[in-house]
Amino acid sequence: MGKATQNICNICGKMHEEWPAITFDSPSHYINLSEEDKKNLALLKDDFCIISWPDQTDRFIRCTLSQTVVDHCDNLEYGLWVSLSEKSFRDYIDNFSNEHHEVTYFGWLCNDIPGYDMDGNIPANVLTRGGTARPEIIPHKEVDHPFIKDYYNGITKATAEKRIQDVLSVVSKRNKSKSKPWWKIW
Ligand SMILES: [Zn+2]
Repeated sequence: MGKATQNICNICGKMHEEWPAITFDSPSHYINLSEEDKKNLALLKDDFCIISWPDQTDRFIRCTLSQTVVDHCDNLEYGLWVSLSEKSFRDYIDNFSNEHHEVTYFGWLCNDIPGYDMDGNIPANVLTRGGTARPEIIPHKEVDHPFIKDYYNGITKATAEKRIQDVLSVVSKRNKSKSKPWWKIW
C-alpha cells in the first residue's frame, strides 16, 4: 500500500496529492469462493482468472476504469475485473504481448465497487490498448445504474476523496484483523 504523494500537478501547476487507485486483485466470483474452491477450481494470475465449475467455465481479465471528477485535475482510477466470453478471452490471451492489438470486447463488470449497491449487472465495452497497458472499461450508457450515471456525469472531488478514505479504512481494519486483504491500494 503506497502513501499519497505530493506532486506538482501538470494541469494546474500546484502541489497536491496524487490519489491512489481503487484496485482489486481478483473478481468477486473468486473472492467469494471458499479457500478450498480457490485451490481446486480457480486459476488466478495478475491479469486473468479462470474458474472451472463442473458445468461451466468463467473467465475474467483485469482492466482499468477512469471516473471523471468534475472539480479536480485528476480522475479517480479503478482497477476492476470483467468477465469475457471464451472467444474474447482467448483472443486477449493470444494477443497479450501484441503491441498493435486494439480491439473491443463485450464484458460484465465483476467487482463490488465501494460506494455503490452493485445489485444488477453492468455491461461494458472493454478496449484493449496494445503494449503493457491494461484494457479500459467503458460501461454501457443506456443502463440505469447509479455507477453508470456517475461515470457519465462525473463525481465531485469530495465524493472521490470520501470513497478513497472508505476503502483505506476497510483495508486497515482487515489488516489489523490479520485476514488477507482482498483488495490492494497503491
Ligand atoms: Zn492540479
